[in-house]
Amino acid sequence: MNVEKIMLDLEKKHPGEVEYLQAVREVLENIEDVYNDNPQFETANVVDRIVEPDRVLTFKVPWVDDDGKVNVNLAYRIQFNNALGPYKGGLRFHPSVNLSILKFLGFEQIFKNSLTTLPMGGAKGGSDFNPKGKSDAEIMRFCQSFMLELWRIIGPETDVPAGDIGVGSKEIGYLYGMYKKLAAENTGILTGKGLNWGGSLIRPEATGFGNVYFANEMLKTKNESFSGKRVGISGFGNVAWGAALKVTELGGKVVTISGPDGYVYDEKGISEDKIEYMLELRASNEDIVKPYSYEFPSAQFHEGKRPWEEKVDVALPCATQNELDKEDAEKLIENGCICVCEGANMPCTPEAVEVFIENKILFAPGKAANAGGVATSGLEMSQNSMKLQWTGEEVDEKLHWIMSSIHQSCVDHGTEEDGFVNYVRGANIAGFLKVANSMIDHGVI
Ligand code: NDP
Repeated sequence: MNVEKIMLDLEKKHPGEVEYLQAVREVLENIEDVYNDNPQFETANVVDRIVEPDRVLTFKVPWVDDDGKVNVNLAYRIQFNNALGPYKGGLRFHPSVNLSILKFLGFEQIFKNSLTTLPMGGAKGGSDFNPKGKSDAEIMRFCQSFMLELWRIIGPETDVPAGDIGVGSKEIGYLYGMYKKLAAENTGILTGKGLNWGGSLIRPEATGFGNVYFANEMLKTKNESFSGKRVGISGFGNVAWGAALKVTELGGKVVTISGPDGYVYDEKGISEDKIEYMLELRASNEDIVKPYSYEFPSAQFHEGKRPWEEKVDVALPCATQNELDKEDAEKLIENGCICVCEGANMPCTPEAVEVFIENKILFAPGKAANAGGVATSGLEMSQNSMKLQWTGEEVDEKLHWIMSSIHQSCVDHGTEEDGFVNYVRGANIAGFLKVANSMIDHGVI
């Protein structure tokens, strides 16, 4: 495999797809040696087959707003690779959604799902629709129109979408209702469902919990724990609140949360009652970060800034892609941060990752450290197939086991001669090997 040549070809074929090209380059650079040591991969041309999605569905979503105006949004479903099982990956509703972002997310999802040990292929989808500021009726009409098109290519044994940014339990409910009506079936299509109709306990907090379990495993390798640690978190969405809750439970102190317009620093710690308050704001579709700083006098709002300038021991970027750059990374190191564990997908730029690896701190990529979300979605699928619901303790125990097992795979494939664990390399190699070997088993299809 010649990474530069493959990248040149891909750049020609897909000009301007920056995020997708960035994600592919990272994986190829990490797996290059393993790939070249195993001639069967080249014989089956696994690399050219794995970097392109199996198929991309692009469709328009017309919907009527509360003023009677007809709106049109663009939507996609990228079915990337199903070597390990049915396509699986979230739907994102956000104005920034485009083909490049969804292809990057779908590509990452292949390896993330592989790491979970569960039988799931990789996919992603979404729309440039912005649910913020929309009424429930508008969101419902949008979701119904979206599903009118999507339902043709999904199914409980073929492709099982989930939530992501802008797609929570409300949207999943409307999508599920429409699918049920169209397909005339009540099956485990979609994960992140409501508890009353096939959802799994622990799913809402699973990505954040899993992220903290992973960080805890990393800390253990240095005989450290969360107890007494200052923790910086970005965002305050699905991933961030679960992480904040678990950090607090393990004895750490969360000192930051953030939104697109700035961050809040709270020296007293963002703990349980404050998290509850923010969840209430979230449920009412209101801004969270600024109102938090008005409600709690110990908190200061830093307009237009990112939380990484604060002194923390552990950083959990849980908001969005490329939200932590080289300068932020250098600041974290300067302030004595020992562990960065990605809760979001690709929140650290490649230059920031380089800084962490050069300084040999504990750094985990999202594809390993946020896999708890999709893993619990996989557990939701298992429960749906069996037509039963496990207890919260059972699901949490399985999630914990899966995160420890992903950590071990990263250690097995990412430990360097001097004992430093390169979790990025470890995750990419472990995720890739399983998919590549399965593709070979299935022949050229
Ligand atoms: P949410 O939409 O629930 O939360 C995102 C949070 O980040 C919101 O608080 C949002 O603020 C904030 N935010 C958005 N842009 C910025 C920015 N530029 N700077 C700071 N904060 C920002 O999404 P999720 O929590 O579900 O997802 C977050 C990340 O985790 C994404 O990368 C997603 O792909 C990834 N992920 C999510 C999983 C899940 O189970 N939900 C599973 C695995 C990965 P506001 O609401 O004000 O816009």
